[in-house]
Amino acid sequence: MRRAFELVLFLAIFAALKVALDRDDARPGRTVVLVVVDTLRADVVEARLDERGDDAFPLVTSPPIRVHARAFSASGWTLPAVASILTGVDPEVHHAHGKATVLAPLTPDLATLPEAFRDAGWRTAAVTNAAFLSPLLGLDRGFDVYDHEHAYNRTLRRADETVARALEIVEAAGGDDLFLFVHLFDPHLDYDPTADRLAELGDAALTSAAPVTLADLRALEGTAQASDARVRDARRLYELEADAALDAFDRLVEGVLLQERRKPTFVLTADHGEEFLDHGGFEHGHTLHAELVRVPLLMWRFGRGTQPPNRRDGVVSTRDLGRRLLELEGLAVPDSFAPSTSDWDGAGGGVAYSATTLYGPVRVALRTDDAALLVELREGAPPVGAQYDLAADPTEQRPRDPDPALLDRLLDRRRANREAGRATRRLDWLDLGPSKHAERDATLRSLESLGYAGGDGDSNGDSDDVGDRDEDSGAGDRR
Ligand SMILES: [Zn+2]
Repeated sequence: MRRAFELVLFLAIFAALKVALDRDDARPGRTVVLVVVDTLRADVVEARLDERGDDAFPLVTSPPIRVHARAFSASGWTLPAVASILTGVDPEVHHAHGKATVLAPLTPDLATLPEAFRDAGWRTAAVTNAAFLSPLLGLDRGFDVYDHEHAYNRTLRRADETVARALEIVEAAGGDDLFLFVHLFDPHLDYDPTADRLAELGDAALTSAAPVTLADLRALEGTAQASDARVRDARRLYELEADAALDAFDRLVEGVLLQERRKPTFVLTADHGEEFLDHGGFEHGHTLHAELVRVPLLMWRFGRGTQPPNRRDGVVSTRDLGRRLLELEGLAVPDSFAPSTSDWDGAGGGVAYSATTLYGPVRVALRTDDAALLVELREGAPPVGAQYDLAADPTEQRPRDPDPALLDRLLDRRRANREAGRATRRLDWLDLGPSKHAERDATLRSLESLGYAGGDGDSNGDSDDVGDRDEDSGAGDRR
């Protein structure tokens, strides 16, 4: 009798548990949404968080659970930065970089983040908007859906449209688990906020300044000061575009939450920032200074109980973001992903490495808890370095002589990366110059409109292969 009672009790508990589990299973699948906003400075997002507090993302029901205040990108321009996010290695290892329009695609020898999700049975999809994320460059590998549009400075798929497309993909995923990569291009040149946004602002002077083009910025270089009204206007227009992208991110999160998917995770970051005379120049791709490689990194995770928002000051690299996301979801990390050097919990000891420029000399950089070390590498000459105090001088205005031990550490990392890069095939440089291939033509036009194509006097044909005389060195002759 007692035994029968126990059996009934057991069955009742089992049935109740099963109902609970089935209810969870009946909901749509898990979701990881990684949003990379092109050209988004970390300080723009910080100002928004400071000014608006919990309403910084008003449609999202909770503030971010993590804000990483010292997150750095693997590079100061799109292709190597995004390729590092997708492969978990430094640019010398995945080879996706180059100069001007001569670019190497992603090596086929490394696993990608979407492949890791796919191997775990997840659906994978991307909505992307720039020439540097063209399928020609191999960044589509591992995505079941790769919705790519060439973005031009003057015509682009704006954030609203991109987010609408992303939400369609989420809906179509139904009960499947989904990894979704979304790339928003709005803050990139030209700085041309929509008429609505300008009208809201009601600033006639700013309206007449729009749009700001690359040519406008080039004309200001060498003549303007950061305090110049023209520079301030350009920056303000850029910030309006950044706001548009962040508002669209807010709507994307709300849209996914309304679909009641299981335990969704959202990450908001950038491929790189933008310079406004912080170090005498504009735009991006030319240095590895903080305004270009320090990026916003915010994370929301829902359905896991309430967690207080948390600012972390540990040095982290977006290169390690893929590993982090896979680990948080309990999924296997591909062997080819580099061991993390990121300090996610703020315990100290984090290191972030950045490399490659799109034009100008080859540069590498290292950030530690205390220091930023930036080094320029030139063939046949000793490395030229400058060190900055990361706490007292976070915008890197007061260069000091490099600490020899830190310099060795940076050059060792560079050497180890180049060694590792010899084990991964570098595909032929794609000269995205005139060709019969329609896609290449479109890519070239896109690059030209972004200001990357054509002669660049000071690039003097260098590649990122300084200090290496092997097969790679011929690549520079072709520029
Ligand atoms: Zn970019």
